[in-house]
Amino acid sequence: MCRGRPMVPDSMPDLDGIRDPGSRSLVERAYAFLDACVVCPRECGVNRKEGELGTCRTGVLPKISAYNLHFGEEPPISGTRGSGTVFFAACNLSCDFCQNFPISQMDYGRGVTPSRLAAIYLELEARGAHNINLVTPSHIVPPILHSLVLAREAGLRIPVVYNSNGYDSVAMLRLLEGWIDIYLPDMKYSSDVWARKVSKAEGYVFYNRAAVEEMLRQVGPLVLDREGIARRGLIVRHLIMPNGLGGWEKTAGFIHGSLGEATAVSLMAQYFPTNRAAKKPLLDRPITRKEYEDALETLFQENLMEGYVQEFSSECEDMAFPEPGDGTLAEQETRSA
Ligand code: SF4
Repeated sequence: MCRGRPMVPDSMPDLDGIRDPGSRSLVERAYAFLDACVVCPRECGVNRKEGELGTCRTGVLPKISAYNLHFGEEPPISGTRGSGTVFFAACNLSCDFCQNFPISQMDYGRGVTPSRLAAIYLELEARGAHNINLVTPSHIVPPILHSLVLAREAGLRIPVVYNSNGYDSVAMLRLLEGWIDIYLPDMKYSSDVWARKVSKAEGYVFYNRAAVEEMLRQVGPLVLDREGIARRGLIVRHLIMPNGLGGWEKTAGFIHGSLGEATAVSLMAQYFPTNRAAKKPLLDRPITRKEYEDALETLFQENLMEGYVQEFSSECEDMAFPEPGDGTLAEQETRSA
C-alpha cells in the first residue's frame, strides 16, 4: 500500500446539488466508506478524504481517461448505436496481462467531479448511446453513485452498466441497488493462488463470487428489449487464459450451480501477452485453438447456453463478438454446426 499525497488534488464534493433527501443520505453513506477505505475487498483503511492513497492510488474524485460511443462490447451492450462508455483510470487489481495498463496501472486520465460525470452521461445519451457503461468502477463507487443520482435527477433515462473486474465489495454494491441496471462483472479466476500471482488480489474467488451473487440478486438474469438491446440483468465475463490459469471449469460449475443456467455468460478469447505477461512463463502466449475449444466444451457441458462467445483467431486478431442481431450462444452454435 502506498500512502502519500494524490497527484491531482481533490476534495469532497458538495452534496447540495442532490435534490432528494433520501438520495443525499445514501450518497453520504457511500462517501463514509472513504474515511478508512473499505470501498473494495482490499480494505486498505486509508483516509482518502485526507489525501491518503491505497492500492488503487485514487483520492476522492475519479479520473477518466476517455468517454465515447463504444462498439466493441457484447451485442446487447453495444447494440447498433454504441455503448456510452466511460473509462475510469486506475484499478484495484494489478493484472500482469492488462491490455489497458496505461490507464489502469499508469493512471492516465483527468480528475472529474460527479457533476461533470453526470453531464458526460447526459451528453452520451444525447448522442444516442444505448446505455452508460462504467468501466473499472470498483474503487470509485462513492463518486460514481453521486454522479448517477445527479444524472437521474437531471433526466438520464438509459440503463447504467457496471462493468467491473469482479473484485467488488458486497457492502458497496448494496448501496448501488436500484441505480445499476446491468451488471457486467469478470469472473477471472477460480484459484486464489493464481489471482494473487497474476492480479495481486487476495481472496479473489470468495469476494468475486459473493459480489456476483449480490449482483444477480439485484438485477436478475439478462433481459433484452425487442431489438435485442440489454435493459436489465447480469452478464458474467470470463477471459480464457493460457495454461488453464483462469480455472474456467470451476467457474462454469459455480455459475451453473449457484447462479443458474439462465445466467448470460460472455466467454472471451482475446487474451494476449501484453504488459508484464510478455515476460512471464505460462502467461507469455495467446491461447491455443484447443484451449478455446475446451472452454466452449465446458460451456456446453454446464448447459450455459445464454450469452456470447468471442470468435477465435490464431493470429489473435479480429477477435470480435458477432454482429448485433446474431443471436444468443445457442443460435450461434446452431449456425456453425
Ligand atoms: S478502493 Fe480498494 S484499493 Fe482503493 S484504497 Fe479503497 S480499499 Fe484500497
